[in-house]
Amino acid sequence: MTLPTVSLKPRRAQPILNRHPWVFEGAIGQVSGDPAPGAEVLVQSKDAQPIGRGLFNPNSNIRVRMFSWDKDEPINEALFAARINEAATLRESIVDPKTTSACRVFFSESDGLSGLIVDRYGDWLLVQLTSLALAERREVLFDLLEKRFAPRGIWLRTEKGIREAEGLEIADGLVRGEEPPRPISIFENGLTFQVDVTQGQKTGGFLDQRENHFAVSKLVRGHRILDMFCYAGGFGITAVALGEAASIVGVDSSEPALELARINAELNGVADRTEFLKADAFKYLEEANARGEMFDTVILDPPKMTRRRSGLAGAMRGYRSLNELSVTLLRPGGLLVTCSCSGLISQSDMESMLATVSTSTNRRIQILESRGQAADHPVSPNCPENAYLKCFVCRVT
Ligand code: SAH
Repeated sequence: MTLPTVSLKPRRAQPILNRHPWVFEGAIGQVSGDPAPGAEVLVQSKDAQPIGRGLFNPNSNIRVRMFSWDKDEPINEALFAARINEAATLRESIVDPKTTSACRVFFSESDGLSGLIVDRYGDWLLVQLTSLALAERREVLFDLLEKRFAPRGIWLRTEKGIREAEGLEIADGLVRGEEPPRPISIFENGLTFQVDVTQGQKTGGFLDQRENHFAVSKLVRGHRILDMFCYAGGFGITAVALGEAASIVGVDSSEPALELARINAELNGVADRTEFLKADAFKYLEEANARGEMFDTVILDPPKMTRRRSGLAGAMRGYRSLNELSVTLLRPGGLLVTCSCSGLISQSDMESMLATVSTSTNRRIQILESRGQAADHPVSPNCPENAYLKCFVCRVT
């Protein structure tokens, strides 16, 4: 069988030759053989030198997602099975099941299948399909996931905007086995957390922050902590329960998240040292400044501030303002833990922002640790877009 072909423009082929898995519309010179949406295609140079194989989507800005740089390797169940197995084996070697029962077991391009994300929460799998081609092949993928992980159930969730970006028509909900309980109980760093995997934000938990929760807990003994954007309490509860922080105030605008945070504080025996408040972050920080409050540690973990390049300047202003309002709440020698999960904002954007904040607040900032997402969210150097989380641990004097 001859595959339809996608020929790249000579001046746009280099990223794909460097194994970047996305072929954008503008990089394509010619499409031959009339590939259907989701069809397998051979990607080649202008002079018909094969580059590899991918899956086609005429509805997406990412016209082809590459799955192999071997022109003879078919994109089929065997390839999916091998990549799922490899990804699962990696997690078995980096996530200790004695202390952690929830992790990302498959991370899209980083694990070799662009458009598949799978999070494990105890006995359940949460699947996100972010490409049309894999959504079309979902039954095969669900079969393979059942076989490899033997979950009690698989639940499908689709992130905002993906349906439109990819032309997807899929319904969220239970796709295999039993429904997950609401909330579901997991453990992370040896602590117990309840999360809502069907209705909660992201896939229920912020698994990408697990190692940062632990790292911060090592530095905060005796601290009075302000945990801004606390969600279900990951940073603050870990700091008190493992790190012997004196107390935390957690702030979030979502009441369902705060209800879970309060339950989680109880479950880990630290309810007497925690307080969770519903408020808008900017407003809370301004009022805390006006009251002259002081903390030993402030944690800032805002949601994604922009999905588009056009929103970058506004997002940076938001980060600057949040960080300024936090730095001024810190006693000299205190800790600022400042995060960004906006993929479009780089590590050096954040560093420049911190330099500006240091100047405008007249405080000295030392970056002690520049951290990223947990190891179960690996990053392929060929697809740096997957490195989205930044977490700086800073001393402020
Ligand atoms: N720190 C958490 C994850 C935070 S996710 C953890 O480690 O698990 C971002 C959080 O910001 C969400 O819980 C969301 O409800 C909250 N949020 C979004 N906008 C907000 C605002 N304007 N003020 C306060 N919280 C906000």
